[in-house]
Amino acid sequence: MAYKFVDNYRERGARKKLVEHLASRGITDQRVLKAIGKVPRHFFFDETFWNQAYKDIAFPIGDGQTISQPYTVSYQSELLHINKGDKVLEIGTGSGYQTCILMELGADVYTIERQESIYRHTIRVLPGMGYPANFFFGDGSMGIAAHAPYDKIIVTAGAPFVPEILLKQLKVGGILVIPVGDEHSQTMVTVIRINDTEFEKFELDTFRFVPLVGDQAW
Ligand code: SAM
Repeated sequence: MAYKFVDNYRERGARKKLVEHLASRGITDQRVLKAIGKVPRHFFFDETFWNQAYKDIAFPIGDGQTISQPYTVSYQSELLHINKGDKVLEIGTGSGYQTCILMELGADVYTIERQESIYRHTIRVLPGMGYPANFFFGDGSMGIAAHAPYDKIIVTAGAPFVPEILLKQLKVGGILVIPVGDEHSQTMVTVIRINDTEFEKFELDTFRFVPLVGDQAW
């Protein structure tokens, strides 16, 4: 598909309103709000659906993909506390919208997707938008050991449990953000690596994600 990278006053205005909406829903990290205000979400949509691009909803965007809800993207991004230069593993590239937000926050992103058509689509489109992440194809429930350890790990699909193998790929002081639950609803979980053997776990709000499918997943 040929993409028209047109970002005019209408889209910029809609993006500003989305930022205000996310702030009103409780997103307080100004850097996250700034990133949402910068990434043109309509670039991920067919032009016919540009009027849907700045609503706070997930949306099917072809190739069997959905683009995540802006609130969910903001919520997970805020929990990661990204510092400039952080090495971040993202499991579930999907549309790549979350990838762009992480990159706007200054992260060096390693992102993995298990569905080949989605992987091929995103690896083609994202660099053209100015977001040349490190793209991988495969089962991210095992992490990517070859590039570990990571400062932060984000899982963008619903897991049945926290995979041990991901905890092992976190640096000391690192943060894992992962939705955990059944197929109907998941609790957002953050795990902080305290030292070589100790981890601290927090359970937060409830969301609904597509399932994480793989060896250490469903
Ligand atoms: N974060 C994306 C965005 O910003 O639009 C949306 C991610 S979508 C909700 C979840 C993605 O995780 C899907 O593309 C799915 O194919 C992928 N996925 C599921 N299990 C996976 C696994 N084990 N490894 C890698 N990707 C996986």
